[in-house]
Amino acid sequence: MSTEPSNQRASAKAPGWYARAAAQPDPEHRPAAFQRLLLAEVFAHARECYPEECCGLMLGPPGAEPRQVVRCTNVQNVRLAKGESKLNSSQGFWIDEQELERALRSAEARGEELRVVYHSHVDTGAYLSHTDLEAALGPEGTPLWSGVGQLVVSVSENGVAEAALFEWDEEREAYVGRLARELE
Ligand SMILES: [Zn+2]
Repeated sequence: MSTEPSNQRASAKAPGWYARAAAQPDPEHRPAAFQRLLLAEVFAHARECYPEECCGLMLGPPGAEPRQVVRCTNVQNVRLAKGESKLNSSQGFWIDEQELERALRSAEARGEELRVVYHSHVDTGAYLSHTDLEAALGPEGTPLWSGVGQLVVSVSENGVAEAALFEWDEEREAYVGRLARELE
């Protein structure tokens, strides 16, 4: 995977997680705006799960803003116990697959679809990790769910620091990040 020159320039004074990121929010991009109540629900979930990562979904009409947050269970500790991953629930997330299926079925029944997958990062930045990237991509190296954003929330014992939305850029064949904030 190539490293873009801008990443190399920034890494000189960047925090430790920077080098571990597959994508970072670009502060020059216009922030992604979410309805206040939806973002508040995601942030509350992140705080409640601390010091473990939370995960869940945002559902909404096709191509439109998300309307609903569905909290999911992070089963990463189960995967660790089964030897399917080396990461625990503070270091990674895996959405309970039955909960995921149920949420997708009920969305479909309402004419809605998956718009955003969210998860939190504990005591580190709101970046897309290489593990997050691998989980988001299918075997073709393109997103498993086309048009679905990845929202990452940075949380510590002091609360939520920031959040960033990562969306697939067809031309660059990469996720591009921008900060997420409330709709004004
Ligand atoms: Zn992550």
